[in-house]
Amino acid sequence: MLRDLSPLRVVNQNPESLQVLTLSTTISRLKQHYGHLGPPPARGPFALVMWENACYLLPDERRREVFEALEKKVGMKPAAIARAPDSTLLPLAQRGGMRPETRVFRWREIARITLQQFNGDLNTILTRPYAEAKKALKQFPNIGEPGADKILLFCGMSSGLPLESNGLRVLVRLGWARAQKDYGRMYRDVQQNIASVLPHNPEALQQAFLLLREHGRVLCKDKNPHCNLCPLAEGCDYAAKTAATFLPPPRSKTLSSP
Ligand code: SF4
Repeated sequence: MLRDLSPLRVVNQNPESLQVLTLSTTISRLKQHYGHLGPPPARGPFALVMWENACYLLPDERRREVFEALEKKVGMKPAAIARAPDSTLLPLAQRGGMRPETRVFRWREIARITLQQFNGDLNTILTRPYAEAKKALKQFPNIGEPGADKILLFCGMSSGLPLESNGLRVLVRLGWARAQKDYGRMYRDVQQNIASVLPHNPEALQQAFLLLREHGRVLCKDKNPHCNLCPLAEGCDYAAKTAATFLPPPRSKTLSSP
């Protein structure tokens, strides 16, 4: 369960005009709207690193297609990927978007690092302290700070709520930090401001991650968000500033979880 503490609204320009959405209410409303979202099909840190590297700038459906084809034709094991010929890997990588040769190179790198440094079993990082496990993951291609946090979250280890760009945009628009050009600073500001209201349960954090991401992808788009369809519009700073005319009049100052 998400803890239902008072929200920390740091950038609300006109607090009297808005109802206040706690983080738990935000997630509850998104869950009502989108339903319970399932995790990625990848299981364990090695498969999740491969999942992150399956595609480039393509939708989840294609990522799933490439990942599952690789799993079926080659196997989701480092030794199997290391010995697979290019004639097998390249056609699979071509389904994953631009620069398929680079993708094959990265798949081989992921296999090589796992074999050489972890004796072929990346699950061993899950017995290490969080910071060490995270450092180990950041050696792999395309895995930065939030990516490593996300992989560990889906392995049942959590240290806060990792956010990719969609989820971060939603929380910034709701007023959890100021929008700013410095992405890293904005990310840290949101993390700092939500830290005290996060649940401790990894499954609740996984669901929060998935729902915020989905909302950013489907309605709270970077350009022209569909605020008129949004279940969070009544408590949204961004909507209040940019599209206040369609908002219903405020009823009370705090919304309780449904
Ligand atoms: S009201 Fe608009 S800007 Fe605010 S969270 Fe919803 S879609 Fe995003």
